Amino acid sequence: MDGLRKFPLEAPGRISGLTELAFNMWWSWHPEARALFKRLSRAAWKLSGHNPVKMLGEIEKGVLEQAAGNGEFLAHYDQVMEKFRREITDGGGTWFAGNICAPNAMPVAFFSAEYGLHRSLPFYAGGLGFLAGDFLKESSDLGMPLTALGFMYPEGYLRQKISVNGWQESLDEPLDRASAAISRVLDDQGKPVLVKVPFIEPPIYVEVWKIEVGKIPLYLIDTDIEANDPWNRGISSHLYSGNLEQRLRQEVVLGIGGREVLDTLGLKHSVLHLNEGHSAFAITERIRERVADGMSFEQAFAQVKETTVFTTHTPVPAGTDVFPFVLMEKYFSSYWPALGLDREGFFKLGMNPEDPQAGFNMTVFALRCSSHRNGVSRRHGRLARDLWHGLWPGRPEDEVPIGHITNGIHVPTWIEPKMEMLFNRYLGENWKARHDQPEIWEAVRGIPDKDLWDTHYWLKMKLIMRIMERARQKRIEDRADAQIILAEGVLLDPNALTIGFARRFATYKRASLILRDAQRLNRILNDKWRPVQIIFAGKAHPADDPGKRVLQQVFNAAMDPAFGGRIAFVEEYDEQLAQYMVHGVDLWLNNPLPPLEACGTSGMKAALNGVPSLSILDGWWIEGYNGRNGWAFGEEAGEPRAQPDGPASGWSAPDRDAADAEAIYRLLEQEIVPLYYRINGEGISTGWLGVMKEAIISAAARFSARRMVKEYATSYYAKCLLAVKG
Ligand SMILES: *Cc1c(COP(=O)(O)O)cnc(C)c1O
Repeated sequence: MDGLRKFPLEAPGRISGLTELAFNMWWSWHPEARALFKRLSRAAWKLSGHNPVKMLGEIEKGVLEQAAGNGEFLAHYDQVMEKFRREITDGGGTWFAGNICAPNAMPVAFFSAEYGLHRSLPFYAGGLGFLAGDFLKESSDLGMPLTALGFMYPEGYLRQKISVNGWQESLDEPLDRASAAISRVLDDQGKPVLVKVPFIEPPIYVEVWKIEVGKIPLYLIDTDIEANDPWNRGISSHLYSGNLEQRLRQEVVLGIGGREVLDTLGLKHSVLHLNEGHSAFAITERIRERVADGMSFEQAFAQVKETTVFTTHTPVPAGTDVFPFVLMEKYFSSYWPALGLDREGFFKLGMNPEDPQAGFNMTVFALRCSSHRNGVSRRHGRLARDLWHGLWPGRPEDEVPIGHITNGIHVPTWIEPKMEMLFNRYLGENWKARHDQPEIWEAVRGIPDKDLWDTHYWLKMKLIMRIMERARQKRIEDRADAQIILAEGVLLDPNALTIGFARRFATYKRASLILRDAQRLNRILNDKWRPVQIIFAGKAHPADDPGKRVLQQVFNAAMDPAFGGRIAFVEEYDEQLAQYMVHGVDLWLNNPLPPLEACGTSGMKAALNGVPSLSILDGWWIEGYNGRNGWAFGEEAGEPRAQPDGPASGWSAPDRDAADAEAIYRLLEQEIVPLYYRINGEGISTGWLGVMKEAIISAAARFSARRMVKEYATSYYAKCLLAVKG
């Protein structure tokens, strides 16, 4: 059903495979493929923002012709293309085929509202998106028969611009579709496939785009099309609309429309996996189709439930979508009869027994309609059992049927190539194929301190040079005020202990916590012999004013001459800046308000590259911290006291802030800074290198997406298969 795609440029015959390679995100996690594009033209590669589709569209034809006649380039090309074709077509011989079942026996449909795959595909806001993106890449590596579904956001996510008073302005930067690795799905006549979202009046139409993620197809729904009126066109324009009705319409289109898209394309699946509740209406479609085929609601419900997996990511009730019943009525009054239900029966599915009047709760609905349910870390699993206990009255809390699978990161994506080369030398060439086996990482102890430090120091320089280059561009292009430029990292010092803090500026992440006692912080940062610096980055949601106020506080500190440039705020946090930061800082700081970090993944990315965490004991760090691989605090503060600040997204617990900031200062003053600067004759702190090594050894396998995806397959998908065979 996939129609022709319009290539931006025809590469000469001998290297025409470059276009195919550029359109499959496989290149992004294979350094040899990235190097191939870079080899064509370093300048064009850089100017394209490491986006081969854009690069091939802009590059001079002569460059390609020259490459097609260059023996060294051709040898490299052939090697990459051979591996690419082998891995993309290989159906058997994979982990999935060997351990779960024949791939065609159990296709899985994976639904998510966002995907973080690469900087050039701005369809993400944060961690949830990167988790989904890493899930697809790992599924490809393991040979999982997965089809993914999501939204195309033509407006992209926001481009961040900070004004001189520290306020975040958001600019839309519409996606340039011709320069992205996406292609429109066409029908047999070569026309765009047009799908009508079933049962919704007035009608909503969608078109479909496709991204190839290795072997995994990701279909993206687009509502910005001629057939729709303006209100409908805007449904997919932005991630997570702040308007409740538009938000409901997004979720209707994602779940019900998404399911219809798969049907139209003939993509059958026997398991449905919902990554968070936004897409839960896909469940109603599965039930409706069975009812239409003659089953009773009860039969259909039971069958669908057996084969549905639901992953919840929210640790607090306020984080879930709840739609008022009047709003639900507007969109679903012709739908529930098709399920064989009346109004009450339908609404009951989404009713939270603890708050029945609130409306239709998407998490409650998804929990009721799935047999396999999980949180995303051990603590989050326990929290979810506590939160949703009311759905299973009479059961002891630890028997509430919600388990956990701790998140992980896609190792080939997040390992820095220089670090990878170092591992090749000491772990054996084949370590990547076995990277989820904890034993192989013991060999990290054998890496000479000097080699690990040289690699790390090189990455730190790379990060700092990159930040300076960004600042220079900003100075030239935006004519930015000198004060702003000084805040953006031009005074960074590669020899200072460098702390990284980069994530969404949601208030619960408490980005400004370390600024609480400015004088004490300044003493730590501007110690003459043992200086420390902090690099901040991150965006606030455009509708989140409390988040923007935190950002403003941080930005103002970066502009404050008193700190002497030892605090930097780098604009426009995206996948690329995230890569530079998790590779290049010395220490990763994480201080959310417990228990609001369901898992967190950026600390895992840092650890893989030898960057230890200074983190509060929440999310993954409760499982990850072992006393030798970084620093932990927050345990003594006991159980959560986080309180929502009313209906906005603000969170606070002033009583905790003081204690947590104190713990950060104390650890820095008494342990971290002294250890970092305990330097031997070779200019190295062996103590610090020991912590770096321990960070890698303890986290690389355990917090890999490979470990995670295998757990989903064996704990949940395989059980669904048994139910199908029933
Ligand atoms: C990994 C990542 C995140 C998630 O980080 P958390 O620690 O889970 O907040 C967000 N944004 C980007 C760009 C990332 O790479």
